[in-house]
Amino acid sequence: MTLDRSAGGGPEFAIAAHGLKKTYRGPKPVAALKGIDLEIPRGSIFGLLGPNGAGKSTFINILAGLVIKTEGKLAIWDIDVDQDPRGARAAIGVVPQELIIDPFFTPREALAIHAGYYGVPRDERRTDEILDAVGLSAQAEINARRLSGGMRRRLLIAKALVHSPPVVVLDEPTAGVDVELREQLWNHMRRLNAQGVTILLTTHYIDEAEQLCEWIAIIDHGRLIVCERTRALVERLDHKELVILLEQELDGIPPALGRFPVELAGPKRLVVRYRRRETRIDEILGAVRAAGLSVADLSTKESDLEDIFRELTKGSHAPAGEAPPGEAPPGEAPPGEAPPGEA
Ligand code: ADP
Ligand code: MG
Repeated sequence: MTLDRSAGGGPEFAIAAHGLKKTYRGPKPVAALKGIDLEIPRGSIFGLLGPNGAGKSTFINILAGLVIKTEGKLAIWDIDVDQDPRGARAAIGVVPQELIIDPFFTPREALAIHAGYYGVPRDERRTDEILDAVGLSAQAEINARRLSGGMRRRLLIAKALVHSPPVVVLDEPTAGVDVELREQLWNHMRRLNAQGVTILLTTHYIDEAEQLCEWIAIIDHGRLIVCERTRALVERLDHKELVILLEQELDGIPPALGRFPVELAGPKRLVVRYRRRETRIDEILGAVRAAGLSVADLSTKESDLEDIFRELTKGSHAPAGEAPPGEAPPGEAPPGEAPPGEA
């Protein structure tokens, strides 16, 4: 099968999910996804964010074919996973969250096995290129059991690339990796993306999403809370707060400060909320001085993605009664749970 991966060709959305639901069966069923509608634009780096237990890995594992959805439609590269599961799977490479690695093979052998699994003909394999791209050329011939955690992560990425899929999905690719490797992985993802690969990654690092992703979707408790261009989302967050501690006590807001949204938070304390794009801090301080006041201390607080994340996710908790009391805290995998391969 050939997939149209040319810049102008290919579908509008690399991944399209509609009404996607997953309930894990068992004595205590878990509704991990409660109806997700998500369209991931072709060519983007797309970040799927959410706290632990939000349902990110469930979504990714459904894409990978490791978990079977309970309800809803899913298309990868415009191929419906129900109508053509093999075709859909050929369009995607998935890097799982767990570092599962076969310790008995070298990276080169692991890639060969994986390429065979995907039916990539020998003369079309790009083993050396891929090993080089993930920085494992020097380790190509050593047993995987001797690879460090970071190297294992990179081997998993390499495996996801052997069939040259137009969509690559990474589940928490930088969880627990050091700063240096994190930068390396980011650069690698950017490079892949520049070659036209659509990248979906999950993370719970907001700064990672902010720096790397063109789009951000946030899920919590199995529901989609927001899906927006990162720039637009960050713009919404352009709120700053300036707290001014004065030398003098006030009994009201001086008229000179009336043009700012200001609040008297204590006899000597003013809180000014402003937008960085619209107001400069020295304008505010100038007005304070013009009102005959002197500043004893100052602090500013920036609202950032972290804030919006908290803001957006705090309202989405299941209403009382939906989740039985005493339920395992989200994110902690229930003990003895079935591996993601269960259906
Ligand atoms: P995330 O990746 O965002 O941390 P997950 O998709 O792993 O979230 O988990 C979502 C919810 O589904 C959690 O409550 C988790 O405990 C539950 N869950 C995940 N995998 C299984 C499974 N195999 N069996 C039962 N429950 C599961
Ligand atoms: Mg997860």
